[in-house]
Amino acid sequence: MGLADGEIERVRAGTDIVAIISERTALKRAGTRWSGLCPFHTERSPSFSVNAADGIYYCFGCHAKGDAITFVRETQHLDFIEAVEYLAGRAGIELQHDEGSGAVRQQRKQFLDVMERAVAWYHQQLLETPEAGAARNYLRSRGYDGETVRQFKLGWAPDDWDSLCRALDLSPKDLEGTGLGFVNKRGRKQDALRARIIFPIFDSSGHAIAVGGRVMPPQPGGPPVSEAKYKNSPETPIYSKRRTLYALNWAKAEVVKKSEIVVCEGYTDVIAFFRAGIPRAVATCGTALSEDHFRTMRNFANRIVLAYDGDSAGQNAAASVYQWEQ
Ligand SMILES: [Zn+2]
Repeated sequence: MGLADGEIERVRAGTDIVAIISERTALKRAGTRWSGLCPFHTERSPSFSVNAADGIYYCFGCHAKGDAITFVRETQHLDFIEAVEYLAGRAGIELQHDEGSGAVRQQRKQFLDVMERAVAWYHQQLLETPEAGAARNYLRSRGYDGETVRQFKLGWAPDDWDSLCRALDLSPKDLEGTGLGFVNKRGRKQDALRARIIFPIFDSSGHAIAVGGRVMPPQPGGPPVSEAKYKNSPETPIYSKRRTLYALNWAKAEVVKKSEIVVCEGYTDVIAFFRAGIPRAVATCGTALSEDHFRTMRNFANRIVLAYDGDSAGQNAAASVYQWEQ
């Protein structure tokens, strides 16, 4: 999956080369050029020149030359695409990828559309149906006001076999492509999630791509909950767990502004950070942090803060991240 035509030009045009290079060496304006000490060789008097209008640099001492992409590749030891992604992240540009044939793209678009409708439907169930009363009370008891529920588009999957399938009239292909349901042994369509609070998961540009469902806590005096606390969408053509960071779509602007990203262990931790006035938190979705996650985060921020639990699972996760970072 490469970049779509014109994307590299768009990144070059959106990049301030003087700002990028100034992070490595002090530049002084001299007419239409900027000059400073060369970051690629040791020198006492400046022979490094930047032409901001053309977006290029040249060193009269060591003959290093190139554009912003070259500069980022050389100084950060990235490959070409990584450098483009880094600059795109800094410039707030959402890169368009060339996703193969028109048919594949069309298919993806259909699945994204189904997911968007499902998220809207789950959200409406939580806000409006009498059946979701217990879920609303539970969320309220956890301090989630209406604003929080709306911001994170929380939802409710009714305690029923197939209410989503029926409400949206989903085809078996839609179910498979989104992971929202499946065809059961009796040949009937069935919802993947029931009687769960829904945390929709969006890609960094805000398209709904998956859902996580949390069971309600056991009733006082009732039977213990036997199912897993969280159940997430499976990998699908629109959802890759090792690439996705929950809440990056909401956190992105603040992450870039502060050049810092906070990584939590789960959806509710992320929401707690937002509510505490730190809207630059994300979480992985039921997986460990991957290299892809790190690459994504580096596109947006210089500083990664791990906000993991003090228990041993959290400590182990933090330790493995630390090793990875060495
Ligand atoms: Zn030089």
